[in-house]
Amino acid sequence: MRWTETFIPTLKEAPAEAEIHSHQLLLRAGLVRKLAGGLYTFLPSGIRVLRKIEAIVREEMDSAGALEVLMPAVQPPEIWKASGRYEQAADVLFKVRDSKNREWLLGPTHEEVITTLASTELHSYRQAPVSFYQIQTKFRDEIRPRFGLMRAREFIMKDAYSFDVSDEAAMTSYQKIYDAYVQVFKRCGVTTFPVEADTGVMGGKHSHEFMVPAPTGESEVAYTEDGSYAANLEKANSQGATTTTSSECTGGLEKFATPNVKTIENLTQAPYNIAAEAQIKTLVFIAEEKPVIALVRGDDQINESKLCGALGTAIFRAAEAGEIHAALGAHPGSLGAVGVKGIPVFIDEQLRNAAGMSTGANENGFHIRNVNVARDLPGVQWADLRTVREGELSESGQPLKIQRAIEVGHVFKLGTKYAEALDANFLAEDGKQHPFVMGCYGLGVTRTFQAIIECGNDEHGVIWPQAVAPWQVCLTVLDIAPGGEVMKAAQAIYDELTSAGIEVLMDDRDVRPGVKFKDSELIGIPVRVSVGARSLKEGNVEFTLRAEGGRENVPLTEAVSRVQSELA
Ligand code: ATP
Ligand code: MG
Repeated sequence: MRWTETFIPTLKEAPAEAEIHSHQLLLRAGLVRKLAGGLYTFLPSGIRVLRKIEAIVREEMDSAGALEVLMPAVQPPEIWKASGRYEQAADVLFKVRDSKNREWLLGPTHEEVITTLASTELHSYRQAPVSFYQIQTKFRDEIRPRFGLMRAREFIMKDAYSFDVSDEAAMTSYQKIYDAYVQVFKRCGVTTFPVEADTGVMGGKHSHEFMVPAPTGESEVAYTEDGSYAANLEKANSQGATTTTSSECTGGLEKFATPNVKTIENLTQAPYNIAAEAQIKTLVFIAEEKPVIALVRGDDQINESKLCGALGTAIFRAAEAGEIHAALGAHPGSLGAVGVKGIPVFIDEQLRNAAGMSTGANENGFHIRNVNVARDLPGVQWADLRTVREGELSESGQPLKIQRAIEVGHVFKLGTKYAEALDANFLAEDGKQHPFVMGCYGLGVTRTFQAIIECGNDEHGVIWPQAVAPWQVCLTVLDIAPGGEVMKAAQAIYDELTSAGIEVLMDDRDVRPGVKFKDSELIGIPVRVSVGARSLKEGNVEFTLRAEGGRENVPLTEAVSRVQSELA
């Protein structure tokens, strides 16, 4: 491919909208252009990378035995109502209306569609195990589309779904796809590590996310250095806080005035001097339209994913000031659960033996001290509700570290929830009908695209791994006069490499050498061969590996074999 015959609109400066390096490089290297927030056009060189990533995904999914299908992006809302996700996922659903004013959804994912297919097409245990996958555009009305392809409103996902007759068989299907993901990311040149992931209301242990460590990642991961534990922070647990919970009880409940105290922090200050560890933080949520209280220790943060699991519903939100006042008769800053009736109270395990604690009195400007949890908070529901902190010991006894990461893939054993909701049953060997045990597996193809750049770049530009580079070789021609020695030599190298199946981008633009070199670094093709009059006079061309830099003279006669051995 000649540069002048394709379209690679490189940019010297990154547009202001691009906040992170990989997003800047996407735009600067001429791979994509933004249409509107979270909506991108892939340009010719971007398409070349995208197709390569897709090809790798396809090969690995095919070899895991999954069958490729293509489902409609437009979906009827009825199946989402049947699964309960029409409400649960309401915030991300794109809804459209047809000319008859009928509502349709633009699919953010396809569990409902594939399970509907299974309900009519899969009937017998003999048809399992079976897994289907597709590579398709997904639509999500993300609250904050940002970071380019990382969080888009329209993006490409590979999604797969497995159908099995038992939990045990479902684990085999799960493991196959898990292993395929390991291969995909390895081949794409992204460093990922699997972590235990949150399973939300579905519960269960079998969910992993594939994470790319990156300071710009929107997820956080807790892990131990010895590799014995790694989990999404939404899910991570530990042996508990490193600071001890107060367990000394010096007497009965005592109300005291706390004018102007609005926060845990306020109460830690004079004249109160009550450590955060000795306070109970009271949070009010509205779950399925009813108030619930969640209690964590004063220095802990509530973990909403864990709360979701404890509540057993994903339909909940923080209560508003008016709702809080209606439920407890006071404003945030003076809230507590002591003596509260008729509102479910969930309490974090960290408070298990807590005594001598302080908490709001449900009267503005007052707190109570000497709260003994076991004595003063009967009827509470215990759960792990807190977010772990760095330095706490993992279940395996190792100190936890916390790191930001990009989630590129997710594997999830679903169980029978969707099969039950959408009647995907099979006739088992025992002659009875049972729901299929399902798994679902998402891999963000376009997010992976940008994660590859996040892992492979320097201050000059992208550094593509060979397997997904838009071209393998950039042939920089420093004198483009047709019929001249330089062009002739370059053309010969081009022809030979191309006929050996190597993808070459020949930079035949009429621009200064400096511009060509800069652009070739920016677009990040793994190998550069530059042909110019000066080195050609000595019978040489210049050879550069993008990842390593430098320039090396290579005899013209060896140029092709040198490239081939580098790419082998
Ligand atoms: P996130 O927590 O980042 O929103 P998710 O949990 O909603 O991700 P899944 O529903 O598991 O993601 O989707 C599977 C994969 O699709 C993710 O692992 C990610 O790679 C990709 N993905 C999800 N949302 C987006 C998005 N808005 N833009 C680009 N890729 C996305
Ligand atoms: Mg999401």
